Amino acid sequence: MVKICCIGAGYVGGPTMAVIALKCPKIEVVVVDIFEPRIIAWNSDQLPIYEPGLDDVVKQCRGKNLFFSKDVEKHVAEADIVFVSVNTPTKTQGLGAGKAADLTYWESAARMIADVSKSDKIVVEKSTVPVKTAEAIEKILTHNSKGINFQILSNPEFLAEGTAIQDLFKPDRVLIGGRETPEGQKAIQALKDVYAHWVPAERIICTNLWSAELSKLAANAFLAQRISSVNAMSALCEATGADVSQVSHAIGKDTRIGPKFLNASVGFGGSCFQKDILNLVYICECNGLAEVANYWKQVVQVNEYQKTRFVNRVVSSMFNTVSGKKIAILGFAFKKDTGDTRETPAIGVCQGLLSDKAILSIYDPQVPQEQIQRDLSMHKSELDKPPHLRPVSPIAIEQVTCVRDAYEATKGAHGICVLTEWDEFKTLDYQKIYNDMQKPAFVFDGRNVMDVDKLRQIGFIVYSIGKPLDA
Ligand code: NAD
Repeated sequence: MVKICCIGAGYVGGPTMAVIALKCPKIEVVVVDIFEPRIIAWNSDQLPIYEPGLDDVVKQCRGKNLFFSKDVEKHVAEADIVFVSVNTPTKTQGLGAGKAADLTYWESAARMIADVSKSDKIVVEKSTVPVKTAEAIEKILTHNSKGINFQILSNPEFLAEGTAIQDLFKPDRVLIGGRETPEGQKAIQALKDVYAHWVPAERIICTNLWSAELSKLAANAFLAQRISSVNAMSALCEATGADVSQVSHAIGKDTRIGPKFLNASVGFGGSCFQKDILNLVYICECNGLAEVANYWKQVVQVNEYQKTRFVNRVVSSMFNTVSGKKIAILGFAFKKDTGDTRETPAIGVCQGLLSDKAILSIYDPQVPQEQIQRDLSMHKSELDKPPHLRPVSPIAIEQVTCVRDAYEATKGAHGICVLTEWDEFKTLDYQKIYNDMQKPAFVFDGRNVMDVDKLRQIGFIVYSIGKPLDA
């Protein structure tokens, strides 16, 4: 029986391994993590992450061929294939701070693998890492190997949070990069054999190591760039009377452009886009490609600008001040169907409103209230850490209340900011909400998901990104 161990039981390690276990009943999969509460949660009925369909997959194989354990070294030692899915945040200090990937978690995992291994292993980069990381990992492993053979593969993960299980069941592609040596090709084949249980052969792409590593950064950069492009266009729409939804529809019909990822919003978030682009910028700079670096830097800058633009719009619409005004924040996660708040645009928007002394009442269906308080009471450098590694602030921000439903959040408010496109926000009783709000009552739709005509009929003053303003 092939044994797989995955180091890192997070948003990627947990779901990817659960799906491998489900699709490959004859493979034993153990997911390990140094953060014990996460392992306890994976072994309970309250999984540590919210992801549609995940509970079901885990229930079907946990205890059969899927295990979660804090006994990291034991399971790594026993494995044939070791996936490494640890966090690779942006460095906050030292050389490359603010841009380069922090590979300390990766390096310590690699050293531990070398230390505990007693048999040959395939080590798979599942985390997103800078191109050429495999070279560094190879050095660490081979210099500490005690005669053991390690083959490094790059197998970046392309799942999107919120649709992770569906993405893993039917991936657009699985990418495997390896050395062009016979041993490297053998390792690629071994990993292909795992995916071949459910992924059609034509969807498994094999490349050299550097192409696979760079493809992941490139994919995220292209996706984020698309969002920044449409968001940049939304600013011009507002200035000219064009409607960004109409523009998106029109350009999306061009098959060279396509309709996906053309929805204007308050900005992209999530743990990956920004950090991976900054990483790309740093790699370009290190390779003497300043112009290319500047190009990608703009994608992040437009994203920041979009959040600032949104906050400015809220404040200017509400008679140039939100001081002492209650504003309801609907949605805090970086997108719907996840409880993940890493780099969510809601943080920047809320902090912008708080700096103008607004009183915020925040509701999100999946993000725990303590998480919201923690995100808002922290310094930017701490936000780069994974949520469970962030310090808990005992002082809740006085201007912020987190509530259990949208009606409570909006009661007595002057304005509503929709910051996550949760489906439930579309079907709320907006007449009731309007009746319970201060007048004039404003809605600022940061995701362009609201029925603007209906809201205007009720009496709301509505601002949607990239759309003509209320008279
Ligand atoms: P995460 O923070 O949710 O999980 C990482 C886990 O690794 C944490 O639980 C941490 O405790 C654990 N860990 C760190 N060092 C360890 C060690 N030495 N031994 C054992 N466990 C250790 O991160 P994530 O969102 O799952 O992302 C993991 C990687 O995958 C990152 O490189 C990320 O860029 C990439 N990625 C993420 C997504 C996504 O949507 N979240 C998608 C594709 C790729």
